[in-house]
Amino acid sequence: MASALTFALSSVRKAIFEHLADVDDDDDVGLQSLLSWVENSWTVLGILFLVVFPVVAIVLSALTAAALWWFRRRADAREAQSRVPCAACGTPTLPHALACPKCRSPLAAPRAVGVFGQPQEAAAPDLALHRFNLIARKRCPLCATRLKRRAVRQACPECSTTTFANQAEFQAYLGALQDRLPRTLLISFGLSAIPVVGVIPGVLYYRLAIVSGLRGYIPPLKGCLTRVVVRIINWVIIALQVIPFVGAFVIPLMCLSTYLIYRKALKDRATEDFAAQGAPAGA
Ligand SMILES: [Zn+2]
Ligand SMILES: [Zn+2]
Repeated sequence: MASALTFALSSVRKAIFEHLADVDDDDDVGLQSLLSWVENSWTVLGILFLVVFPVVAIVLSALTAAALWWFRRRADAREAQSRVPCAACGTPTLPHALACPKCRSPLAAPRAVGVFGQPQEAAAPDLALHRFNLIARKRCPLCATRLKRRAVRQACPECSTTTFANQAEFQAYLGALQDRLPRTLLISFGLSAIPVVGVIPGVLYYRLAIVSGLRGYIPPLKGCLTRVVVRIINWVIIALQVIPFVGAFVIPLMCLSTYLIYRKALKDRATEDFAAQGAPAGA
């Protein structure tokens, strides 16, 4: 493919230069040098695009990966230190767990869940919502242990609690996420109203606030295909962000489209999972 393209291009080039040699014999008009110059600048630009940009992109992503790894490691270390012994059996328990992973006796006052799934200083304000907040941060709904797999239904590695026992629990989780949508859209709107500067904080905000709770449970392949669709839609919408007034609607639109696409992907996945696991009992 690439060699065929190179061959086609060099044939075209040869034809053009032969034709130019006829019209502009000794390069009197300077057409040939102009063309060479254009060609050379293309080569330079080509090198810039093919070599410099990928190198910059690789270095930037390597730095980001290193920074994320470091933050994650520090968070893990802090989390390990933050464990408190269970009042009943003494098992080290995460302070934002609902119950001890071993004996399952409930914690007196579980702490709130942070944006990165870490325990916060304050107590969880709403215990009914707490299990959904844990699931949204990819944590076990009972013992707050980090869940590793990207599957809708999975057992916790520490206490073997399943993320969603049944369809009703899954629907309730989607409902809890949906309740966050108006507020997320409103804040996205506020950030989106700031031209150019508001884009990155805006996108990060809605991803952490609502999208990560869906995306974390979609298996990599499906997540990958869906991500391409989301990316194309987002690039189309993002071009409009620089336009005043119109720009304020850009991030809420991105948020809504991303949310709806991932929600559908997760729902489809859950339907398959529940059907597969329910089949032996039903048949
Ligand atoms: Zn215990
Ligand atoms: Zn657990």
